[in-house]
Amino acid sequence: MDNKKIADLLFPDLKLTEEEIFKKYPRRNLNENQIVTRFAPSPTGFMHIGNFFQAFISYNLAKNSNGVLFLRIEDTDEKREIKEAKQVIYDVLGEFGIKFDEYQTLDGQDIGNYGPYVQSQRKDIYKVFAKRLVEEGKAFPCFCKKTEGKSDVLKLRETKFLDNDDKEYDPCRDLSYEEVKQHLDNGESFAIRLKTKHQGTERIKFNDLIKGELEANANAKDFVILKSDGTPPYAFAHAIDDTLMGTTIVVRGEEYISSAPSHLELFDALDFKPITYCHNPLIYKLNESGNRRKISKRYDPESNMLYYLEEGYPNDTILEYLLNMINSGFEIWRRNNPDLPWQEFKFTPNDITTVAPIFDLVKLNDISKNIIARMSGEKLYENWLIFAEKYDEELATLLKSDREKFVNLCKMDRDGSPKPRKDIYNYKMMKEEFNYIFDRPSSYEIASEDLDKANELLKEYVKDFSMPSSNEEWFNGVKVLAEKLGYAVDNKLYKQNPENYKGNVAKACEFIRVAITGKKNSPTLYTIMTILGEEEVKNRLQISLKND
Ligand code: GLU
Repeated sequence: MDNKKIADLLFPDLKLTEEEIFKKYPRRNLNENQIVTRFAPSPTGFMHIGNFFQAFISYNLAKNSNGVLFLRIEDTDEKREIKEAKQVIYDVLGEFGIKFDEYQTLDGQDIGNYGPYVQSQRKDIYKVFAKRLVEEGKAFPCFCKKTEGKSDVLKLRETKFLDNDDKEYDPCRDLSYEEVKQHLDNGESFAIRLKTKHQGTERIKFNDLIKGELEANANAKDFVILKSDGTPPYAFAHAIDDTLMGTTIVVRGEEYISSAPSHLELFDALDFKPITYCHNPLIYKLNESGNRRKISKRYDPESNMLYYLEEGYPNDTILEYLLNMINSGFEIWRRNNPDLPWQEFKFTPNDITTVAPIFDLVKLNDISKNIIARMSGEKLYENWLIFAEKYDEELATLLKSDREKFVNLCKMDRDGSPKPRKDIYNYKMMKEEFNYIFDRPSSYEIASEDLDKANELLKEYVKDFSMPSSNEEWFNGVKVLAEKLGYAVDNKLYKQNPENYKGNVAKACEFIRVAITGKKNSPTLYTIMTILGEEEVKNRLQISLKND
């Protein structure tokens, strides 16, 4: 009886009822195979690859089961919330094409019937359930100072299992109505704590969709379910929201396994059906000495999802790499189905790896090289331009100023080539990779003993240079000139008596290549020359002469 009176005293103004709440959140009309899941980030201003990993698993599970994916912003920890942090979440998810069936738009409009999808807008709901637990004697108000900051008394209580009702450890656990009233009349604030029914000696079992059956000590702490400012910590909000919103599977990082017993106790106390967990492994990295450690915000720029956008990785690179991490079978599937979109690769919670994946940038880059190699030149140009428009305005202006030229550059050694080039893994590197197109060479990769020979050949070559009309014509032109100057056109003969020649035709071509691009190796030189145009090629040849 006292409990009911205490509850009314603690929440005098609460109008909302449980009945009204359940009416607002009816059961979803789906069959049992349709997974309802969610991504529930806290707005921290940083999207960690581990969080995104979770979002991506949830996205696939919902999509592959024709289920529902919703986004819930967990912003009850106001100290942590920073401005524009929500924007980062929406931007990153949007960029990578993770679409939600239900969410709240940035300007506050709920899309879907189970909102609000932002926890700070659900405070009354949490209060209704906290009040009910107090009424039922399953929770109690705690007036200890610094309830959330943990006073000494609370620390003691948390480290000692509750095997009695010793008030020394528990000054608030069994307060009478009069005592509660007295505290309130003194103007003291209170938190609500769960009155755990466990002793700390019981073991509980629960099933995890990835890890199978798990066993752990039952919770034995009277943990806070409502802070003194009326906001719920993660555990309480999770139990209520995932129940009301009809979540069928909670995908979350395995760092939550240790607190699962306390979460399950809450479902039980609230008379809710226990939720099904799918604790995904965390992503690790090897350090220099070969030991693994969690990929971290502090040391690894690749832990930040914005990194991949700023470096200009194709979205599919990251998504395919994550699929590799989720299930090693993806690699074989990709080999057998090089042209299918990754969306065709389906997996269930059962297929998710139990082994912690190790992040490897080299492998990610290899995946990226293959993905970019499969793009047409036209597509590559489009993607490069989209990247430049966001991160390098000057480059974007240039790319747009001569579309045809840059499309041709992207097509080089690609469209129609039986062995398309596989050296580009992101859009950012393309500027450096193609620097000979943007800038005249600032240095020449040429051995000092070749300088005179190169100069002689180039002087002749530039004399009546005109743009050849095909690769063959270009090569034949070089051959004729090289032979005239004492180079071997027959490589066999050259190899037999190299001292009889200034070099072979390949050497002559190399001199021209270096004069135009600065480099000994480049994609097909003829193509580069057509992209640069006759005028520019001539200029570069001239300049290289003066340089020696
Ligand atoms: N807000 C929690 C986090 O960001 C969500 C965990 C969960 O998905 O339940 O870690």
